[in-house]
Amino acid sequence: MIEKKGVVAVILTIGDELLIGQTIDTNSAWMATALNHAGIAVRRRVAVGDDWDAIWTALTEEGKSSDIVLITGGLGPTSDDITKPLLCSFFGGEMITDKGALDNVVEIFSKKLNRPLLERNLKQADVPDNCRVIPNKRGTAPGMWFEKEGTIYVSMPGVPHEMKGMMTDDVIPELKKRFDVSPVQHRTLLTAGIGESFLAERLLDFEAALPKGIKLAYLPNYGMVRLRLTAAGAKDVEAMIDHQFEQLKSLVKEHLVIDQDLTLQETVAQMLLTKNKTLAIAESCTGGYISHLFTLLPGSSAYYLGGIVSYSNALKIDLLGVDPAIIEQFGAVSIETVSQMADGIRKKTGADFSIATSGIMGPSGETAQKQIGFVCVAFSSKEHTSTTTFQFRFDRQRNIELTAAHALDFLRKNMG
Ligand code: ATP
Ligand code: MG
Repeated sequence: MIEKKGVVAVILTIGDELLIGQTIDTNSAWMATALNHAGIAVRRRVAVGDDWDAIWTALTEEGKSSDIVLITGGLGPTSDDITKPLLCSFFGGEMITDKGALDNVVEIFSKKLNRPLLERNLKQADVPDNCRVIPNKRGTAPGMWFEKEGTIYVSMPGVPHEMKGMMTDDVIPELKKRFDVSPVQHRTLLTAGIGESFLAERLLDFEAALPKGIKLAYLPNYGMVRLRLTAAGAKDVEAMIDHQFEQLKSLVKEHLVIDQDLTLQETVAQMLLTKNKTLAIAESCTGGYISHLFTLLPGSSAYYLGGIVSYSNALKIDLLGVDPAIIEQFGAVSIETVSQMADGIRKKTGADFSIATSGIMGPSGETAQKQIGFVCVAFSSKEHTSTTTFQFRFDRQRNIELTAAHALDFLRKNMG
């Protein structure tokens, strides 16, 4: 065990596509979170293109000043990828074929893909002989673990889910064994209906009185604010952070949505499961986005029955039974229309609860009475139908996301 206080890591992502913005570097963010949870601080994130000199320089520079360099990308089967020969040369090894990695490639091609194996696919099993091979259960490119002058270098594929698999199953557990790090403790809660600055005012004294080593973070998103306490965690810190968390909860209690690190849709899902109730959604302006948020969650079939994207007036009338006279009189974006949409989808699907959305997302469609960002949301259950309106601003994408967040919050409050 290496007794080092404050182990530092660098994340190095490789790929031309990252530098032109074609691929968003989500790997770095995910790895930073995983390392942080394991108690390993990320000192720097570096992105370079598929370029020999750039990669060589980055490895040299970053290796000097850190304990761990985690690398993703550049391991694909096309010839323009140069990372592997470079690693071989950088660490002074010879290229050999790894039996386990080869079996994995053959297995994937013969059993899963049912495609002929090309020479370039077989080459994916080649690795420098001075690395430890990290198995890739989700793809063909193996990971590689090197050590040089007291620094660990781990090279992983750029494909996000392959990298995540290796990090979770192998890299993080190995790093924890090698370094004496205490994991970081987090306690997170979600609030709604209070702005970040109001919260900050309210928590001024609490924050100032926090014991050394415990930090409070504000993470605002779509009008909801997540509050997170963080502490580097030995045993006594755990009791301390729990105590502070209880205080924090009581300070925000009327705005507290949930005292766990869950999204709003996960919170709503949990409530529906607990109540053993089902949900259906009629979406106009959100175009199926809210339904998508639910179907992204594993196990959503237990409570989410389905929905209708009724974008046109005709579909609102034909599929949801909205009265044409109501649309004529009040417009498609009105509390009258949206409440009929919510009732319609609930009756049609037999769901216990339903929500409906209709709004003007922009950039066009503004009228004298209704501005861009004007949104109507309805909730319906056997007992009651309720509506609410919002006035958002910003752009189309953001308006859709804001509508979804506020509709979910409206659902949460109404189902009680
Ligand atoms: P080749 O070009 O030889 O086919 P590749 O570039 O596809 O290989 P990798 O470099 O391992 O192989 O990357 C695989 C894919 O993973 C990329 O095409 C890209 O879509 C995605 N990817 C790479 N780096 C990142 C990253 N930092 N964040 C998110 N996705 C990434
Ligand atoms: Mg690449």
